[in-house]
Amino acid sequence: MTSLSRRVAIGCVMHETNSFNHRATRLEDFDTRYLLYGDDIWQLGDTNTEIAGFMDEAEAHEWALKPLLAAACAPSGPLAEKDWLSLCTELFMRLHAAMPVDAVLLGLHGAMVVEGEHDPEAVLLEGIRRIVGEQVPVVATLDMHANVSERMVDTSDGMITYRTYPHIDQRDTGRRAGQLVAKLLTGEHFSSVLRQPPILDTAAHGRTSPPGPMNDLLAEAEALEGQADVANVSLQIGFPWADVPFAGPSVIVTGRVRARCEAIADQFVEKFLALTDTVEMEFPDAQQAIHDALQAQGQGPVILADFADNPSGGAYGDSPMLLRAMVEARVRHAVFATLCDPDSVEQAVALGIGGRSRFMLGGKEAPHLTPPLEVDAEVICVSAGRFICEGPMWTGTQQSLGPSVRLRVGHEDGIDVIVTTLAVAVTDRNLLRLFDVEPADRQLLVLKSRNHCRAAFGPLASSYQLVDAGGIASMRLSALPYHYLRRPIWPLDPDVVHQ
Ligand SMILES: [Zn+2]
Repeated sequence: MTSLSRRVAIGCVMHETNSFNHRATRLEDFDTRYLLYGDDIWQLGDTNTEIAGFMDEAEAHEWALKPLLAAACAPSGPLAEKDWLSLCTELFMRLHAAMPVDAVLLGLHGAMVVEGEHDPEAVLLEGIRRIVGEQVPVVATLDMHANVSERMVDTSDGMITYRTYPHIDQRDTGRRAGQLVAKLLTGEHFSSVLRQPPILDTAAHGRTSPPGPMNDLLAEAEALEGQADVANVSLQIGFPWADVPFAGPSVIVTGRVRARCEAIADQFVEKFLALTDTVEMEFPDAQQAIHDALQAQGQGPVILADFADNPSGGAYGDSPMLLRAMVEARVRHAVFATLCDPDSVEQAVALGIGGRSRFMLGGKEAPHLTPPLEVDAEVICVSAGRFICEGPMWTGTQQSLGPSVRLRVGHEDGIDVIVTTLAVAVTDRNLLRLFDVEPADRQLLVLKSRNHCRAAFGPLASSYQLVDAGGIASMRLSALPYHYLRRPIWPLDPDVVHQ
């Protein structure tokens, strides 16, 4: 590093918010992933995260990095206002102290909602802009499920979005953002254009593995970036469970000539509009899915994804509906993971390993939708609930389930249930190994996830089925009690697309 090194501030504030989750998210919930201040950010250097990607580019360009903070939380309900203000204050204070800086690189999810604030990412970017001024490049990364507002695009110099779902390109996305900053630091000027079709979802929700229509769109976006006048094309699918005016798919094009950016963005909007019929809306229910799973033959476990109660979609993760169907069908060699139920964890810990009791499992947060399951179970394992991800998603980062237990329902080769204190989706095999469960050895894995668990578990599976067993991350979007969403919008107002 030379004395002429550019000074680049880095940080991230990432949360995907399900507005229909009535539990406020607090700072302590960031324990599910990480909340690191200042130099503690360097802990992420060897992980699959945006921060590690920023660090890679800094090394390549010999930038002097100024670490602000790194905050990432598993999806959940709106962030409590007090906790949000404390995060903002901390970030702004640290940026003030780091001034002068030549650029800012910020990791965002893009679908965060705060109590009383629909567009917190814009608030964050505007605050940063006030501190660094108009001339300093500010570039942010986004999750593919970001809901993007005009304010976010207007306040930044570019937004770089994941190109995989399951998301396995966090570090690469950080690098691409760093590369845009490097171009801007040479004095290049770009404008950014945002376009948003009147739809809530499209292109198979962005799935890229196994391949879907999104793969072709992303390949086109990437090819356009090979052209000299186009700096970046970002395609967002949006997050339909955030009740904000600008929820849904969007396109951001950054380049030298505004009219050209607009033309490109309009083309992608047309493509998004043409792909709404690839959005899956109908899925088997719990009984049907278990029935089909018992008929299935093949090498490796059958995987059922309990997506309507998926904590990765901000749902409670406490629905026992599929577990109920498993118990009724007396399935064997099966795992149900995870079920968020702090009370049952406490009860099991008090009983101790080998203890047996009657449990009221789950169903506490939305009993009208997903009532609890009363069942006899034995305590098999107790764990502090911390593990390091070994799979392709967030490789090397720690996740926390809070104190957790493995219960067994039925006889020795019956159903193992992983009960946790925090609501965390299953995205890594090491989550199960914490409880001495080797996923490949089971015949049936019922996992709280949608598409993300495919990255780690897909290679093991003989089949993979999404199940709508009820919950607040259901694809029955027309039944959700939206209040702030712009209208008309598909599929709530179907004529907007199919006229
Ligand atoms: Zn996402």
